[in-house]
Amino acid sequence: MTKYVFVTGGVTSSLGKGIIAASLAKLLQARGYTTTIQKFDPYINVDPGTLNPYEHGECYVTEDGAETDLDLGHYERFLNTYTSQANNVTTGRIYQHVINKEREGAYLGRTVQVIPHITDEIKRRILLLGENNNYDVVITELGGTVGDIESLPYIEAVRQLKWEIGNENCLIIHLTLIPYLKAAKELKTKPTQHSVKLMSEHGLNPDILVCRTEEPLYKELKKKIALFCNVTQDAVIEALDADTIYGVPLEMMREKLDIISLKKLDLPLGKEPDLSVWKEFLNKLRYPKSKVVVGLIGKYVELQDAYKSILEALIHAGAMNECKVEVRNIHSEYLTKENVNEKMQNLDAVLVAPGFGSRGIEGKIDAIKYARENKIPFLGICLGMQMACVEYARNVLGMPEAHSTEMNPNTVSGVICMMEEQKAVTQKGGTMRLGSYECNLAQDSLASTIYGSTTIFERHRHRYEFNNNYQEAFEDAGMIPVGKNPKTNLIEIMELKNHPFYIGVQFHPEYKSTVENPHPLFVAFIKAAKEEHDSKSGFSQRLF
Ligand code: GLN
Repeated sequence: MTKYVFVTGGVTSSLGKGIIAASLAKLLQARGYTTTIQKFDPYINVDPGTLNPYEHGECYVTEDGAETDLDLGHYERFLNTYTSQANNVTTGRIYQHVINKEREGAYLGRTVQVIPHITDEIKRRILLLGENNNYDVVITELGGTVGDIESLPYIEAVRQLKWEIGNENCLIIHLTLIPYLKAAKELKTKPTQHSVKLMSEHGLNPDILVCRTEEPLYKELKKKIALFCNVTQDAVIEALDADTIYGVPLEMMREKLDIISLKKLDLPLGKEPDLSVWKEFLNKLRYPKSKVVVGLIGKYVELQDAYKSILEALIHAGAMNECKVEVRNIHSEYLTKENVNEKMQNLDAVLVAPGFGSRGIEGKIDAIKYARENKIPFLGICLGMQMACVEYARNVLGMPEAHSTEMNPNTVSGVICMMEEQKAVTQKGGTMRLGSYECNLAQDSLASTIYGSTTIFERHRHRYEFNNNYQEAFEDAGMIPVGKNPKTNLIEIMELKNHPFYIGVQFHPEYKSTVENPHPLFVAFIKAAKEEHDSKSGFSQRLF
């Protein structure tokens, strides 16, 4: 039978429940268990697709086209397996389902209530992934913090489920904070005690406490936490601040989180975890041999979560190249023709980020022009690729009015325009071109060399596309459409001739980069950045 682990959070938000859940999953996977993670978010939006990055960070997209919480990105990057629509559920989706059923008459005249109808639907969704015995362990992360009004139905659903499937099949891990008071030079356990008490008022007792802390937890303190929070002593896990999220699985292994979890779930320990690939990656990450500076051009660069998957993909690619990637954030809104040279100085590569709407768009175009003319390695993702086409049309093809019809619906030169199928769409949520699509690559392209294949699958999230009427004009001028969807002929990749590395992609390669499988495009991009760096510093590889 599938076992269920729940990860709740206490004291404050942002303690890293997603990373703890992903780390435990990684350790169980390394011991030979099949496992997956799902996230329940207590907000009323049906999915985060319509949420502004200022509200919710990046929107992550799965193979099957679900717009999800960015924690699913961590799950995939850690586990190297795909998640799906079923792995992310919001309160909005739960209510939508229950209300639709009510409209169908499925409740036969009964009053529809939070308990039992909403909690029943939560339980159904929790069990869904384990239904066909596809997984030995399903880990469910409950978003929010214990004590939030909106989290209550979830806590109640877990309480009921635990009673229904039995204690030995259910494990509650509570992630909490042990603050260090500098003035008193002391670690404080009281917030954790209160948080656990709050949970127990709702009938749920944690089995394991993972304690985020800046200072090591000494033995007596662990004992005190165990005593007052009613858990066994070995179930108080220290989670010291880590230098990288990728160090957390090994920290959790050192603290035996996997062993204690398996024991409490009444499961055999399995084989000794083999994390050799992971450790090799960490080694390369921690001890790089060189460094490159990549300019990240976007309008949300001040938010560390807005371009999460891109930043992680750069980390993976950096490690693969044994090279530290320093990201220089360049806010596209403040980039102008006048200051572009100064702001882009000394970059080894330029990445123009995805996005929507016109804020900061001219800054992106100026940055692209700079990278093109100065032959700096360039990667444009989604909106970044679209603006690369606009820049080329304006400055090389002699079309000063060229634009995307997203920003200027009346332009006479709409080199980027809305996809046919999108024109009839009126609803905003979940209606973009989403998820994985096939793309065929030209045999002689840089992209096909990088991928080592002429057929690839990549994930999308957009409404606009390159306007195929301009294909010939671009091609004649050296900007080549080298990737096409075989069914619709949509252009998915643009490459510039006579440039060391200039690639624009309509899809989002960053979603598919994992620790064990860094994305080839990012790996090649950082390699090109290294070459650019070496050539700038007068180091010629040809000498060796
Ligand atoms: N706004 C553009 C579109 O909808 C690009 C989207 C993106 O960068 N994800 O096509």
